[in-house]
Amino acid sequence: MDSAATALSHVRGEIARACKDAGRDPASVTLVAVSKTFPAEAIEPVIIAGQRVFGENRVQEAKGKWPALIDKHPGIELHLIGPLQSNKAKEAVALFDAIHSVDRTSLCEALAKEIDKAGKAPSLFVQINTGAEPQKAGVLPQDADAFIKACSATYGLTIAGLMCIPPVEEAPGPHFALTAKIAARNSLKLLSMGMSADFADAIALGATHVRVGSAIFGTRPPFKGAEQ
Ligand SMILES: *Cc1c(COP(=O)(O)O)cnc(C)c1O
Repeated sequence: MDSAATALSHVRGEIARACKDAGRDPASVTLVAVSKTFPAEAIEPVIIAGQRVFGENRVQEAKGKWPALIDKHPGIELHLIGPLQSNKAKEAVALFDAIHSVDRTSLCEALAKEIDKAGKAPSLFVQINTGAEPQKAGVLPQDADAFIKACSATYGLTIAGLMCIPPVEEAPGPHFALTAKIAARNSLKLLSMGMSADFADAIALGATHVRVGSAIFGTRPPFKGAEQ
C-alpha cells in the first residue's frame, strides 16, 4: 500500500480513538487532509484510499492541481485553510467548498459579492487569532462576537463555524477551548481546529474539522513565501 494511504488509515484510527475517549460519534469529526505543497501524484493514492475532503492553503496552487483530480474522482470536497486575498475571492468561491479563513470586513464584502454572482456559497469559517499573534491572520478574540454578527447583519453571509491555529510554542488546549467558547455563545456549530500534532486534543475540546497534513503526506518540502 502507498505510504500516505497507510498513514491515512493510521490517522483515521487515531481520530476514532479520540472520539471514543471523548464519548463522541466519529461521524461528527471530518478529516481534512491537508495536501498543500504535494503534487497530484502524491494526492491521488489518498483519494483512492477513500479520502474525499482535502485542504489547501493557496488559491493559485489549488487551481493548478485540483480541477483535474476533481473531474476524475467524484465527490471531492476542497477546503481553503490559508489566508485569502479579497482579489482572489471569485476564484476561491468557484473552486472551494469551504473557506476557513474569513477574518476581515473587506474580505466579507468581496465574498458576499462573489457568492451572489456565483449563486453558490462555500461553508464559511471565521478564523480567530486566539494567541493575538501580530504575524498571524484572524480576528482577535475580543472582536469576534461583533465580527461574526457583522458577517450576517452587514454582509448577509452565513457563518458555519470558527477556525483557529494556536501559537506553536504554547499548549493548544486553552486556544481550542477559547475557540469553542466563542462558537457556543454565537450559536456556531462547526469548529476547525487541530493539526497533525494535536488533533486528538482538539477532538476532546469539540473539533468538528481536523486539518491534518504531515501525519498523512509526510514532511513538506521547503515552502517559499509566507505561511501561517
Ligand atoms: C499546513 C496547515 C495544516 C496542517 O498542518 P500539519 O501540521 O502538517 O498537520 C493545518 N492547518 C493550516 C491552516 C495549515 O496551514
